[in-house]
Amino acid sequence: MNIFDAMERHGHEQVIFNYDKATGLKAIIAIHDTTLGPALGGCRMWPYASEEAALEDALRLSEGMTYKAAAAGLDYGGGKAVIIGNPLTDKSEALFRAFGRFLETLGGRFITGEDVGTDGNDFVHAARETRYLVALPEAYGGSGDTGAVTSFGVLQAMRAGLMHRYGDDSLRGRRVAVQGLGKVGRQVVARVVEAGAEVVVADIDPQAVGVVTAQYGVEPVDPWSILETPCDIFSPCALGSVITAETVERLRCAIVAGSANNQLADERLGERLRERGILYAPDFITNAGGLLQVADELNGYRPERVRHRVEAIYDFLLTLFRESDARGIATNRLALTLVEERLKLYHDIHRIFTGGRSRT
Ligand code: NAD
Repeated sequence: MNIFDAMERHGHEQVIFNYDKATGLKAIIAIHDTTLGPALGGCRMWPYASEEAALEDALRLSEGMTYKAAAAGLDYGGGKAVIIGNPLTDKSEALFRAFGRFLETLGGRFITGEDVGTDGNDFVHAARETRYLVALPEAYGGSGDTGAVTSFGVLQAMRAGLMHRYGDDSLRGRRVAVQGLGKVGRQVVARVVEAGAEVVVADIDPQAVGVVTAQYGVEPVDPWSILETPCDIFSPCALGSVITAETVERLRCAIVAGSANNQLADERLGERLRERGILYAPDFITNAGGLLQVADELNGYRPERVRHRVEAIYDFLLTLFRESDARGIATNRLALTLVEERLKLYHDIHRIFTGGRSRT
């Protein structure tokens, strides 16, 4: 990959490669855009097939964080870290402390926390070396796991989708297919079961499937056929790029609303979903709950305030869906336009000199 070309194409500001020989740490931090404030985004640990795949993930995910923060009306920019390694075998106190020391050198330009393959306990180690962390366990002064609040946001998106499509936002009797039963997916299952939906689930980890099916009595299907399961709502809560030029034709749902980042392998697929009559709740709006929680933590954590802001995802999406129909534009395109407008507006406002005080 030609890194500067990729940065130019997507508008990234900074990419930092961090290596520590003693611990074997290989981490990439990508800062996409700090127009609105310091970059905020999770730190993923994954056994990437290649360094290029890790870099691509960091670039795509950090860009998505800029959109997510802007769409949520937050004064934060977009960034993401990836650690190359197997979360099951390669974690150690020293590895996360080495990561923490590198993070500290950025002086708060990037603030991070748990993501796929990491959890708050990993960052308890990192916190001994850096201040720039969020979502630490509550016992360590953080706001804790973000899965619950993210799943609450997914529920808002599902309800908004149902309201727009059927004029009734009840999940009772609706069929929901959940792909991925991790920190978010299993709580999405809990919420939609409680709301009276009929639920189908899949995960590549049979143990995760066993736990969820035993607990909620939901129907398991294999991970390859969940996409083509007939349902009202398909909820991607695993990894990104699940909707490709090939899989978009196999979907048999009315609505897509899930927590996974970068669900569309290509933004143009939003148009294809629209042509197929499938209502797409853009991922970076649907899954903003976790970000809203950690951003709130940086401003004096108030769980009721977070809940209120996550509830607003419902109205935001309803307006977006209506506008998308009225203007004949795919929901994801329209959402991106709103983000670009916000970035431009605040970029322009930040040119105003405020007497030497740096903006927060
Ligand atoms: P997680 O690592 O806890 O869970 C992911 C689950 O997906 C795992 O159980 C894994 O086995 C499963 N999986 C992976 N590939 C799969 C496949 N092909 N088919 C079926 N299952 C598969 O992660 P998480 O925190 O639950 O996050 C899930 C998604 O939501 C991620 O894309 C993440 O970036 C996104 N997200 C999470 C949060 C949060 O608060 N945790 C916030 C915003 C977005």
